[in-house]
Amino acid sequence: MSKVGKVFLVGAGPGDPNLLTLRAAELIASADVVATDALVAAEIIARVPKSAELIYVGKRSGAHSVPQDQTNRLLIEKAREGKRVVRLKGGDPFVFGRGGEEAEELAAAAIEFEIVPGISSAIAGPAYAGIPVTHRAHATSVTFVTGHESDETTGVNWKALAQLDGTIVFLMGISKLPTIVRNLRDHGAPASRPAAIISKATTAQQRTVTGTLDDIERRAAGIATPALIVVGGVVTLHDTINWFESKPLFAKRVVVTRAREQASELKRLLEEAGAQVVQFPTIEIAPPASYESLDRVIECLDDHQWLIFTSTNGVDAFFERLRHHGEDSRALAGVMVAAVGESTADDLRRRGIEPDLVPPKFQSTALLPLLEADQRGIRTAVIRAAEGREELIDELRRRGGEVDLAIAYETRRVTIAIDDLHDIDIVTFTSASTVDNFFDVLPDAKIIERAMLASIGPTTSEAIRRHGRAPDVESEGATVPALVAAILRACRARTS
Ligand code: SAH
Repeated sequence: MSKVGKVFLVGAGPGDPNLLTLRAAELIASADVVATDALVAAEIIARVPKSAELIYVGKRSGAHSVPQDQTNRLLIEKAREGKRVVRLKGGDPFVFGRGGEEAEELAAAAIEFEIVPGISSAIAGPAYAGIPVTHRAHATSVTFVTGHESDETTGVNWKALAQLDGTIVFLMGISKLPTIVRNLRDHGAPASRPAAIISKATTAQQRTVTGTLDDIERRAAGIATPALIVVGGVVTLHDTINWFESKPLFAKRVVVTRAREQASELKRLLEEAGAQVVQFPTIEIAPPASYESLDRVIECLDDHQWLIFTSTNGVDAFFERLRHHGEDSRALAGVMVAAVGESTADDLRRRGIEPDLVPPKFQSTALLPLLEADQRGIRTAVIRAAEGREELIDELRRRGGEVDLAIAYETRRVTIAIDDLHDIDIVTFTSASTVDNFFDVLPDAKIIERAMLASIGPTTSEAIRRHGRAPDVESEGATVPALVAAILRACRARTS
């Protein structure tokens, strides 16, 4: 039997990639063909597997790149070839998305299909603007209306709309705003009725303008599309509930210089605070040129009294290699373990190892006062990158100790596209080496002239100073959450 194809009409949500449904994510991951609207967020498109065929059929306001009947034919054709076809649409496929027409065509062609609802901008847009579409004190109904049809000649019942006491959400209405306002007014809506325009809702470029039917046109002049028009008493709640645009880092462009492999927590915390994260990794974590020194330590772990881990990368690489040798955490049973940095300590804890020693500062030299002054007869292995500071090792040897340097990984420079480096508000640095690399590749110091520079600790700050700048923020604990907390404090202090 030949493979039977199927078409999924899938809502991609209003813009914020986090508002994609689980079902949509799962279908995108297993698609053979993805036919998408141009408005769908780049982060969602990035989920399309390389093996899948990606086709843009979408429209931007005004410019239809592929006519509707051609899109319908394409979906049917691909399904008949036995493909799993995901038709991605902005918001919800059945809310002014032509999903109904596509489903009718599929039914007529006897192609199997499913509808996967998405979060519509008509509801999520107002929600992100702090405007609940219904509210017991303000609106008992909500009406979605297309602005396209708003010439007097078409089917919109303006009389009924003007008299409705509920909320009206207009989609595709910005170019017709004057007509919409006039129609409502002509049919008896008071000039004082609250109105809002929400542009690029749920994205870092979101902008909400509020007013009344009397002045909304003037206030919204020049606002960018896509945008929604909301009319009704609920608009007044924006002033109280406006939670998204008032996030501490809302719309701030924040550079993350961490290696991509390590950037996820920092990225998540910054985004939760409203930031637009610009990933600018200057290094990547790579296996060492040779595992010789690490292997030598692993083979005689029991001959060591201390193992020192200076980074989470070191922990990860060490355990990876341990597994390669057919061993696990139990191999560390007879040795004391020190971890530099709370994240490093946590990484060990996740592997069932409670570190015996964690210095108060995120600096390998901070271990020195805590280790035995007389190191004679003590053998220590330091697990770290090929490049690193030698002070710890030198000092332990000076005290008479035997020290093995086990190189677990390398940090390598990466070449990156600099196109995203504009309008930068904050640059975050999580190590001295990323500072050096960042300044080396920065084409023009002007790019970060007015940016706030945030450092994770003293060593990193020192590196920033070596490049002729002073850090504006230095975190107290050497952890990513502490760094973000310090940035938020500084931002609040600046605005208050
Ligand atoms: N099916 C979509 C709507 C498609 S019609 C949905 O459910 O959201 C396109 C219109 O939706 C635009 O003209 C605009 O009015 C609205 N729209 C879509 N995304 C938007 C966004 N992020 N911000 C504001 N309006 C948006």
